[in-house]
Amino acid sequence: MDSLFNIALQDCPYCGGTGCFEEEGGWCLYIQCLECGSQTAEFAYHSPEERSEMAAQAARLWNIGKVISPHPGE
Ligand SMILES: [Zn+2]
Repeated sequence: MDSLFNIALQDCPYCGGTGCFEEEGGWCLYIQCLECGSQTAEFAYHSPEERSEMAAQAARLWNIGKVISPHPGE
């Protein structure tokens, strides 16, 4: 199992849904809500060490509610 998934994530600040790590192209990651699609900023990485670090940063943002809504203004 990937070490990324050992990080505890709070529920989505918008809808209370489940946050999930997403990776794009093997160079960046972010956390997205499975229910409403809100997400954190993307974090680029260039090595496995950076990947773990960026995952922790993304989790920190998610857990303090710094999450971008897919429906701004609502
Ligand atoms: Zn949500």
